[in-house]
Amino acid sequence: MSVASSAEAAFQEKYGSEPAGLWAAPGRVNLIGEHTDYNDGYVLPFALPQHTVAAVAPAGQPGWTVCSDLAEEPVSFGTTSPGDVEGWAAYVAGVVWALQEAGFDVPPAHIALSSDVPLGSGLSSSAALESSVLTALVDLGGFDLPVDQRPGLAQRAENVYVGAPTGILDQSASIRCQQGKALFLDCRSLEVEQIPFDLAAEGLAILIINSNAPHQHVDGEYGARRKSCEEAARILGVPALRDITVNGLEAALAKLDDDVIRRRARHIITENQRVLDTVELLRSGRTREIGPLLTASHTSMRDDFEITVDQVDVAVETALAAGAYGAWMTGGGFGGCVLALIDADQAEETTAAVLRAYQEKNYTAPTIWTATAAAGARKL
Ligand code: ADP
Ligand code: MG
Repeated sequence: MSVASSAEAAFQEKYGSEPAGLWAAPGRVNLIGEHTDYNDGYVLPFALPQHTVAAVAPAGQPGWTVCSDLAEEPVSFGTTSPGDVEGWAAYVAGVVWALQEAGFDVPPAHIALSSDVPLGSGLSSSAALESSVLTALVDLGGFDLPVDQRPGLAQRAENVYVGAPTGILDQSASIRCQQGKALFLDCRSLEVEQIPFDLAAEGLAILIINSNAPHQHVDGEYGARRKSCEEAARILGVPALRDITVNGLEAALAKLDDDVIRRRARHIITENQRVLDTVELLRSGRTREIGPLLTASHTSMRDDFEITVDQVDVAVETALAAGAYGAWMTGGGFGGCVLALIDADQAEETTAAVLRAYQEKNYTAPTIWTATAAAGARKL
């Protein structure tokens, strides 16, 4: 059964009536630009075919009720403040709260969720959840909320209500991505440009390798990286590392005495340039040529930012040895997914090589599939 059908069926079963509509929002991967978002820099995500679908209808009585095929029990809440609703339903209560805070009179609603975005694998199931519910409530309420202002509200739900410190990347991608395009986002100005990324038309595919490596110390390490970047910007006397370009790289590095801070800064400064270079190549249709930039991003994450783990490095090395144009980790790090840019007809061979490499190392088997750039949040 498709995700949409199971959301609809769950709605009928739980609420005994038909939903007013189905709203979908995708998970995402980042093509390039890791940890640049909180440095006011550039990112280039695209939407996955995997998505979360919210079946929603206005409710007769005040308050909101939400159920999910990933949760045992439905959760009901009225008007709340951050901290009142905890657990998975906090993402939903957070969206209602953020809309109310922005002055919208959110209609009471029944919500049933279904999703095929893997949870906690760095593919942003949390943003898919927030964005599907946000889009549904905006439509049902008839709100005048331009699409460029929606990611900020979903981000507030996650940052303030759920209490997870994430940048604007995930929600922007889930809401604003388009099919066959990558989303070039300037995280300072929030300007976006839709960049051609029609892999299928060029006989290419992206292999997604979910390392299934256990996530460890992720929050602490993320906080530490943010702190190092802020410290580097402070020493260099700029608002954010985004303000240092590669032309000023050597001069900037010379001012950073601490080796760790110097390497963290080098990753961010060079990563921003790699995003710009990738965009330039894609704009002129030279998709295969972005491979080395993507691999260079991985090397930088491995050696300078130090956020990879062996499962991830093995997948990258194996995919490259099998002939991938580029291979790199995507997401915050310490596990999560590796992407490989390959000829579409090489998927089976590359998959087999990575499975073998994991087996030899006795690692938990990875989950591997191919993806092309899918659509962002929408009513179905
Ligand atoms: P990621 O966004 O990388 O998948 P997060 O830790 O940010 O990982 O978000 C995962 C959390 O989001 C889950 O633990 C759960 O609380 C919530 N979540 C996401 N999708 C759903 C869903 N369809 N139903 C219920 N909860 C969900
Ligand atoms: Mg998330």
